[in-house]
Amino acid sequence: MMQNQELKIYNTLTKKNEKFEPLHAPFVGMYVCGPTVYSNAHLGNCRTFVSFDIVFRYLLHCGYKVRYVRNITDAGHLENDADVGEDKIGKKAKLEQLEPMEIVQRYTVDFHNVLQLFNTLPPSIEPTATGHIIEQIEMTKTIIKNGYGYELDGTVYFDVEKFSKEYPYTQLSGRNLEELLNNTRDLGGQNEKKGRLDFALWIKAKPEHIMHWPSPWGEGFPGWHIECSAMSSKYLGSEFDIHGGGMDLIPTHHTNEIAQNIACHHKAPARYWIHTNMLTVNGQKMSKSLGNSFLPHELFTGNHSLLERGYSPMTVRFFMLQAHYRSTLDFSNEALQAAEKGFVRLMNAMKLIGDLKTSNVSTFNIQQLTSNMYAALNDDFNTPIALAHLFDAVRIINSVNDGKETITQEDKNILQKLMNDFVFDIFGLKEENTQNSNKIDGLMELIFDIRNQAKANKDFRTSDGIRDSLKSIGFEIKDGKEGTSYTMNN
Ligand code: AMP
Ligand code: ZN
Repeated sequence: MMQNQELKIYNTLTKKNEKFEPLHAPFVGMYVCGPTVYSNAHLGNCRTFVSFDIVFRYLLHCGYKVRYVRNITDAGHLENDADVGEDKIGKKAKLEQLEPMEIVQRYTVDFHNVLQLFNTLPPSIEPTATGHIIEQIEMTKTIIKNGYGYELDGTVYFDVEKFSKEYPYTQLSGRNLEELLNNTRDLGGQNEKKGRLDFALWIKAKPEHIMHWPSPWGEGFPGWHIECSAMSSKYLGSEFDIHGGGMDLIPTHHTNEIAQNIACHHKAPARYWIHTNMLTVNGQKMSKSLGNSFLPHELFTGNHSLLERGYSPMTVRFFMLQAHYRSTLDFSNEALQAAEKGFVRLMNAMKLIGDLKTSNVSTFNIQQLTSNMYAALNDDFNTPIALAHLFDAVRIINSVNDGKETITQEDKNILQKLMNDFVFDIFGLKEENTQNSNKIDGLMELIFDIRNQAKANKDFRTSDGIRDSLKSIGFEIKDGKEGTSYTMNN
């Protein structure tokens, strides 16, 4: 732990790198907008949650006691992120003739499984929108009482015009309010609203809407933005340290969340706003509606037209670490193949480190290496730079192993701890498939023995047959001076 260096976080609210000072150290409260569970999480969604996993892991590593709240949106998120249209989950439920809660359950389980494959830590609390209807109604009531909400025929709107006269409504997005007002389309059915930018806190349920609850304004359901305000206030208080999500949430969802919190508690919810950039494919945001998304399991199996072959979860995690969370990350087969090589090289070095021979002097400066690695993460969680320094360490490990450089016992202990901390605890990488590959090695030895026996008996039909059969299931074998070896195609 490098307590002597200070952590700086880029704050979307102030557009500055700021020193991280928790409100009640050593406690840290962090809220991240979770998924809307109406379909399988695609790789772009995963990137956002892996990025926050690094933030979570690094804060824990620094000794903070983090309460990480990540919600599940299981109601209220309408199509096009708007106030009108069908509920995303309700629509899927109708399409598949299932209960909305069956949809929710199916995709929540999928989301958890996928994030577990990527070795992300579970959040401390994972609240659902449907489990907090009462809190959302209460918050809406307070917003009305404080003069920032009004009811129209069973729907409650937030009065953006009134709010924006008193508070900088567009501070987070940095957009011009006038321009926004002029550019907002007049959506059909919303004409009664006082202002075009007003958004719904509570929405009256139409007869065909499946999920609805009783409220002081009649049967309805909560708006998408109020759930995050209600749940973050409930579990982290009206003011907490970090709020995060994908950059696409800045202009509407997060802007409205801030407005709701101020209107209810007279305080902005979070001090530091962290936003992650998008995973792109050929420069375009990966999204389900653009048809350029793939699911993690397609990536692992290689079963997708964009993929030349499959890549393992840790290869993909390593690939994500190679970009800073505020930069876009463009998917390509070449980049994943390079990541795979890097990951294997790193893991090989991790295996060597324990057995390195020590001597009286070290030919490198362990303090410098350590401080470089921490400096990178303290500079707004800069994983690509930290990774570059990690590879300085990999080079040193390999050189010491080759007898070209030397290391003292003391430095070896420090280096081993440093590498374990960064690779496993902070970056969340882990060994893959070693057990399975050991078993495959054993099986192959057995098959090679049978084949050698056949060859010795001049039974070439059997020996060639074994080779051809192995090839047809993806094992290429090669006879060399040192015996037979194999490569496994994905
Ligand atoms: P949703 O389930 O659509 O509400 O999205 C869940 C999270 O994934 C949000 O924080 C989005 O910002 C994020 N997200 C969606 N598409 C991408 C993408 N292509 N790259 C990175 N994050 C994304
Ligand atoms: Zn949210």
